[in-house]
Amino acid sequence: MGFRFRKSVNFGPLRVNFSKSGVGYSVGGKGFRVTKKANGGTRMTASIPGTGISYVEDFSSSSKKKTSGSTPPPSGASQPTPPTSGGKKRRKWPYIVGAILFAGVMGSCMQNGGVDQVPGGEVTPPVASMSPAAVSETETPAITSLSLDYDQADLELDIKDTISIPVEVLEEGADTADVKFSTTDPAVLTFAPQEDSDTLVGVVTPKAEGTAEISVFTDQVQSQVITVTVIDSERIAAEEAAAQKAAEEEAARKAAEEAAAQKAAEEAAAQQAAQQQQQSQTNSRTVYITPTGKRYHYNGNCNGGTYIRSTLSEAQAMGLTPCKKCAGG
Ligand SMILES: [Zn+2]
Repeated sequence: MGFRFRKSVNFGPLRVNFSKSGVGYSVGGKGFRVTKKANGGTRMTASIPGTGISYVEDFSSSSKKKTSGSTPPPSGASQPTPPTSGGKKRRKWPYIVGAILFAGVMGSCMQNGGVDQVPGGEVTPPVASMSPAAVSETETPAITSLSLDYDQADLELDIKDTISIPVEVLEEGADTADVKFSTTDPAVLTFAPQEDSDTLVGVVTPKAEGTAEISVFTDQVQSQVITVTVIDSERIAAEEAAAQKAAEEEAARKAAEEAAAQKAAEEAAAQQAAQQQQQSQTNSRTVYITPTGKRYHYNGNCNGGTYIRSTLSEAQAMGLTPCKKCAGG
């Protein structure tokens, strides 16, 4: 590849090009340009600005001559036939340029997010301009069905909590201003629409322990009924704790009682054993008797008499009585 030199000077829509093969010029602007080249040929360029898509075709006087020369005239024709291929190319140009311009318009439409640009300059949303449904959008459909978005018939709620239940309204987009919220016992709970919600949501707020039924309705339709039971889990837990404490205290009291009873029984048994032992010791204690006397003595020298040894039980068995002086008789 040889050394290239390129220089262009613009005069408005006219651009003059200087190159090593001579001086050429081009006329046109963004999107379409016809260039007369220095070597005598012609270039047409059509493009979509900003996309890099373009169509280029070159015409040269030499190729034109070659093209016409390559098509032999029909035999027997006396007059020269005009060049067919060159003519074809010229007729193709308006379609190509038109197609590119159409593509460009479509492209700019898509860049505008699919919004139609009306020649008058008005920009209107495509749905509104095309669909008749957009007209009926302003009409509010009637409510044909109401339901609470809760799949069970019963609900248990602690008194410290609230619960939000979405309301499913058909038809979609219906005015929900007339939907009423119902509770069978406002003393137990309230049921009211949530204030800061875009959609219809019912809030159950407990007031006291008990049971109430909730639903939503209009003059025409009514939702299912949900039975809400409000419980005070704190109170229940406290009562359970108190009951457990009482049971524990009762058990402890019983255990103490049983322990005391057992101790008393043990003490009684010990006492009895001691008494028995004492009795046994008493029965076997030594007494002093005489073969003819009617008394027994603890003191072997009582009254200076002469005694024989015996035991208390033997002496009692013999019918003897205690000496008044030494045996407490
Ligand atoms: Zn005595």
